Amino acid sequence: MSIVYDAIVIGTGQSGPFLARRLSLAGRKVAVVERGLFGGTCVNTGCIPTKAMVASAYAAHMARRAAEFGVTLGGPVGIDMKRVKTRKDEISGASSHSVESGLRKLPNCTVYQGHARFESPHDVRIGDLRITADQIFLNVGARASVPSISGLDQVSYLTNSSIMHVDFLPKHLVILGGSYIGLEFAQMYRRFGSEVTVIENGPRLIAHEDEDISAAILDILQREGIQVCLGTQCKSVAKQGDDIVASLDASGTVSEVRGSHLLLAVGRRPNTDDLGLEKAGVAVDSHGYIVVDDQLRTNVAGIWALGDCNGRGGFTHTSYNDFEILAANLLDNDSRKVSDRIRCYALFIDPPLGRAGMSEAEARKTGRKILIGKRLMTRVGRAVEKSETLGFMKILIDADSMRILGAAILGTGGDEAIHCVLDVMYADKPYTVIQRAMHIHPTVSELIPTMLGELQLLGGVS
Ligand SMILES: Cc1cc2nc3c(=O)[nH]c(=O)nc-3n(C[C@H](O)[C@H](O)[C@H](O)COP(=O)(O)OP(=O)(O)OC[C@H]3O[C@@H](n4cnc5c(N)ncnc54)[C@H](O)[C@@H]3O)c2cc1C
Repeated sequence: MSIVYDAIVIGTGQSGPFLARRLSLAGRKVAVVERGLFGGTCVNTGCIPTKAMVASAYAAHMARRAAEFGVTLGGPVGIDMKRVKTRKDEISGASSHSVESGLRKLPNCTVYQGHARFESPHDVRIGDLRITADQIFLNVGARASVPSISGLDQVSYLTNSSIMHVDFLPKHLVILGGSYIGLEFAQMYRRFGSEVTVIENGPRLIAHEDEDISAAILDILQREGIQVCLGTQCKSVAKQGDDIVASLDASGTVSEVRGSHLLLAVGRRPNTDDLGLEKAGVAVDSHGYIVVDDQLRTNVAGIWALGDCNGRGGFTHTSYNDFEILAANLLDNDSRKVSDRIRCYALFIDPPLGRAGMSEAEARKTGRKILIGKRLMTRVGRAVEKSETLGFMKILIDADSMRILGAAILGTGGDEAIHCVLDVMYADKPYTVIQRAMHIHPTVSELIPTMLGELQLLGGVS
């Protein structure tokens, strides 16, 4: 016996719940299945808790700098890690609760808690129960990759999920991986007071970014006393007393780092290996990501994949945008596509990096004639007033079409200011629209028109 629905949503990440809501309000009989915490990664082990902790770390950092601003504290700055965790749990918990209660209140919607697995293209098993629908939406997300390093199975390591339970200060946190997730944890734990070492295989941090950005971020982190080992492979790990010792190899030069805790931040893998996709005939790529077309359809009619599991995004905003694309196509007769979106994201270290569109390296590769504008944050009044002058902003323009190709703002407020650039890119208007706009003083955004008035031809491009 199977319970029949119009639609089944598996996973309550950043697209499934919104889609369930739209479908159920449109009168469809919907089943939602969640095996873990409602709201998935962003809400429980990703964006929300980490940004709550970044905020605590920023408070600690500013408290230590208080005297610079003429503020006196009663004594040395102390960190109450239990309070840091409680605050984070309250923020994250409220969000998870709101996702769950929102789903449970929906008309025509049944919420199941358990692991969902396909039995056929239209049948899904949850424990002893079988449910069936013509339309199935997969929003199963991703989890931390665990690399094959000798000895890793013998030590207790942390991931972005298990570190959420930490309510004490690690004496020395060793982080494998110098990309977005690893660097946010590196800076926050350093600011809480841990010794922090980042081990990165590649020759620079966040290798997807331009070299000047990687170098500036390395400088920002090193100024705070974070040890960074670049071009370094972790060959093995072993437990020695209460410590974990990582054996390192940097192009033949071997060394060791001894830490109290080890955090893995070497990438993500999709939660598609235990979904019974083979029984539904759904195709995945060599990394396990579900293959989808521009409107998020899998190769099997009636099955769609949204969010991190389709390998087309990897962010909360891309997952949410997947929901918008699907809802537009299925319910609004509006044929939106994944390829309509412009890449954008932020790295939430302090100061943050806001990014939109192409990097300088990518722009160069197009072979177009390119104009570049660059401005140090030391020349941004707002940054000077806040004594937060690390970083720079840069923008890349197609000289012929005058369209913005990409931008990066590494600096205070960069995660917000980037949006004025992004919106003009979406509007497909020339950069002069921003250059002639009057922006508010004193803000970081007010210097974007100024930077656009000082464009230069990008050297090395014919
Ligand atoms: C530390 C960290 C920080 C991050 N910070 C940011 C940030 O600042 N900004 C940003 O945009 N992105 C950030 N991300 C990425 C972001 O969290 C994800 O891209 C986002 O959560 C989208 O996920 P999703 O919708 O694909 O699914 P997820 O949120 O991963 O949810 C998937 C859900 O499916 C459930 N599930 C899986 N398999 C099954 C099954 N078989 N049956 C039932 N349920 C199942 C899971 O339990 C989970 O609840 C961060 C990620 C991490 C790890």
